[in-house]
Amino acid sequence: LEKEYDVVIIGSGSTGLTCAIQAYELGLKPVILEKMDKIGGNTNRASSGMNAAETEVQLANGVVDSFADFYKETYQGGGKLNNQEMLEYFATHTALAIEWLSSHEIELTDLTVTGGMSKKRAHRPASTAPVGAYLIKGLLRIIQKASIPLFTQVKVEHLKKQPSGTQVAISIDEGVQKTIVGRSIVIATGGFGAGSEWIKKYRPELLNYKTTNHSGATGDGLLMAQEIGAELIQMEMIQIHPTVQQDTPHAYLIGETVRGEGAILVSNEGKRFVDELNTRKVVSRAITSLPEKSAYLIFDEKVRSRVKAIEFYNHIGLVESAATVAELAEVLKIDKQNLTSTLAGWNKAVTTKSDTEFGRKTGMNNKLDAGPFYAIHVAPAVHYTMGGIHVDERTRVLDGNGYVIPGIFAAGEVAGGLHGNNRIGGNSIAETVVFGRQAAQQAFVYLKK
Ligand code: ADP
Repeated sequence: LEKEYDVVIIGSGSTGLTCAIQAYELGLKPVILEKMDKIGGNTNRASSGMNAAETEVQLANGVVDSFADFYKETYQGGGKLNNQEMLEYFATHTALAIEWLSSHEIELTDLTVTGGMSKKRAHRPASTAPVGAYLIKGLLRIIQKASIPLFTQVKVEHLKKQPSGTQVAISIDEGVQKTIVGRSIVIATGGFGAGSEWIKKYRPELLNYKTTNHSGATGDGLLMAQEIGAELIQMEMIQIHPTVQQDTPHAYLIGETVRGEGAILVSNEGKRFVDELNTRKVVSRAITSLPEKSAYLIFDEKVRSRVKAIEFYNHIGLVESAATVAELAEVLKIDKQNLTSTLAGWNKAVTTKSDTEFGRKTGMNNKLDAGPFYAIHVAPAVHYTMGGIHVDERTRVLDGNGYVIPGIFAAGEVAGGLHGNNRIGGNSIAETVVFGRQAAQQAFVYLKK
């Protein structure tokens, strides 16, 4: 660890790693500091994909899309509370981000759809790998090739602004304290989905919910930003993910692709109760409104074969299966006739392309008619924190009066504003790449002034 760097990047999720590579390619000297022993944060757990509009991949798959639609649907999905300048920059730069990844041999050539999106925008690897882990692996390959310094088990505790740069106080391996200087700082510490202090402060009623987050998602970046005068915004906007298997001590998020590829949700009564691909907010609320506060994802062999992640869910014992629908109902202890007629009704909706019951419009290419049939028991859990550090579309951190705090940038989940009150699946991975790059570019502009 040296005494001074051009850019001190706090956090090694895809925001931090992307930012480091972009900074390096602009000729800057970056360092990445990660408090955990594992690299990749919550990014490692991302499963749906990376949303982008107007990409070559979409065109190659016959999907004609537009920046304007992507903007509009994200804005609607976020309750129109999104920071519009950020959203505009985001919607018009995701395709470039996909291209940038591709030029770094990180290929996301498969497509799926997530809740709240009218088109297939979620780009993911053609291989079986979930998008997040694949991305981290690809970015690390570049980091290593370029010998960009990355330190794990180095926790940033405080930031202190000085005329010459920002002092970064760190603790190494619990105990050793040190200070280094960052000529600029990028806070990329992720969200606070596992930060009970923050949740207690802003949404105490969620304290008894499980979380899908890694244990390091404690919102440290918010505290350090606050110490140097940053404003925090929309902190009460915490996303609950609707489909989390939580019957074991660990909460496993069941990716939106299972629904995107054709699964439905049924209640204990064996009946559908919502448009399964409505936004996470709406679907979560529908599940918690059921008396049992949980539901079953139901799908057939064709969906299973298309969604590779199901192998993993099955491997760890989260999937129930049976040869026929009636047998599956028996396994789940739900009414046979109800489940059978629910599937018949759904298959008719798929055939006629019209879900008269709940108005579902996407993920309707698959009739659930090929055994074996499968079920996963799911319920909502804390998943993502939309709020965070107030930034502008250039990732510059703002104080309570809306003034830029010079030389301090924040990007990724730690930054608030892009998603409004509900994040669309696939938009967070896109955010990390778009704004991770942007943070490095803006640090460059700042340092060259
Ligand atoms: P994003 O998706 O925005 O990149 P992630 O959750 O993937 O966010 O990554 C954030 C990373 O930042 C995690 O690996 C987390 O452990 C790390 N981190 C959080 N707080 C600190 C801290 N105080 N010092 C160093 N690293 C931190």
